[in-house]
Amino acid sequence: MKQDWRGALVRRLLLLVGGCLLLGLISGEYAWALVIGLGTYLGWTLKQLLRLHRWLQEHQPGEAPPDGYGLWGEVFDSIYHLERRNERARGRLQAVIDRVQESTAALKDAVIMLDRDGNLEWWNRAAETLLGLQTPQDSGQSISNLVRDPRFKDYFERENYLEPLDLPSPVNSRVQLQIHVTQYGNSEHLMLVRDVTRLHQLEQMRKDFVANVSHELRTPLTVIAGYLETLLDNVEEVNPRWLRPLQQMQQQGARMQNLLNDLLLLARLEATDYPADRTPVAVDLLLLSIKNDAQALSGPRQHRISLEADPHLRLKGSEAELRSAFSNLVFNAVKYSPDEGRIDIRWWGDEQGAHLTVQDNGPGIEAKHLPRLTERFYRVDSSRASATGGTGLGLAIVKHVLLRHRARLDIASTLGQGSTFTCHFPSTQAVRRAK
Ligand code: ADP
Repeated sequence: MKQDWRGALVRRLLLLVGGCLLLGLISGEYAWALVIGLGTYLGWTLKQLLRLHRWLQEHQPGEAPPDGYGLWGEVFDSIYHLERRNERARGRLQAVIDRVQESTAALKDAVIMLDRDGNLEWWNRAAETLLGLQTPQDSGQSISNLVRDPRFKDYFERENYLEPLDLPSPVNSRVQLQIHVTQYGNSEHLMLVRDVTRLHQLEQMRKDFVANVSHELRTPLTVIAGYLETLLDNVEEVNPRWLRPLQQMQQQGARMQNLLNDLLLLARLEATDYPADRTPVAVDLLLLSIKNDAQALSGPRQHRISLEADPHLRLKGSEAELRSAFSNLVFNAVKYSPDEGRIDIRWWGDEQGAHLTVQDNGPGIEAKHLPRLTERFYRVDSSRASATGGTGLGLAIVKHVLLRHRARLDIASTLGQGSTFTCHFPSTQAVRRAK
């Protein structure tokens, strides 16, 4: 097609030049004839160009271009078809956008698009009901000005969105929201907010149930344990054959008491998000007393426990909670490492924050168990746990206490070579005392 037009153009020009030469032959003024011929052609071309320009500037959508002649006519038509094609594609895209917007607007979950600085760009209707965003006044506002909970500000600024954040709604504190943030494109944010009030209520019921049952079982168990102790003290008078069963009953009773205590502690930890206490704790002294307890627990098994702790580094938080978390880690190391095993406890600080490491040279844990280790009642090997009298709640308590102190637990272990449990506390939790 292109080739055709080029040929026609060349033919037309040759014809024009031929005509001019003929005119020159007749008039004897070749130069003038050529100037006049080419000038006329140039004038005509410019006129077509002007028509095209005017049409491009002034035409209404869908208005056909003016008629053109020759190659110009072809150019007019091509531009017109191109424009029609673009219009159709734009229409299709607009329809897709409209459908997406309609469907997201109808969603029960809130969808909010934020720019890289966290300013609102677009949101659906559910965002207005769940978060109280106002259309269009809030457009361009920073999301942390509208959702004022400090936990949200923290979460948003930390830019670690692997886990969702649960918060009460700023509009109605009885509505519980779950917030997911995803980064996309040029560090923009997509925020999804779900109403999880029902789930939250069920979860609360579960927590209350466990806490109530544990609490209710404590008194009868204390009575049974008391009688067992009295019976054991006087077993010779009752019947010596009862000695072993009574001893086993006492052992299992003690296990149940430990279990109930751990369940109650977990229930208490779950009741609030952060410990009420935020006074700096002298971790070195705390670890020293835990080390002494661990040495006593080890007793004749003679573990070699070393402690290296920075005395100037303190930690904001609850001493009782930290004691139970740290002692769980150290006592596990004693329980699960062989006699005379080495256990190293280290407490130190760096730019990232404060860290506690408990390292043992015990049996280690297979990699497939590591992600599930902090689940309640998760045991690597039930025979190992029953031999040590563990409740299966120790690491769940550690995880909860650390969560409440904004810290995380890292577990590294190689089967047969030992395990290393490290608690990482952010620098906001650490306090460095002048030397
Ligand atoms: P338990 O009360 O049974 O000790 P935990 O929650 O404290 O429960 O630990 C869960 C499981 O993790 C334990 O059953 C044990 O198999 C494993 N574990 C914990 N600490 C260690 C350790 N230092 N070395 C080897 N295994 C460990």
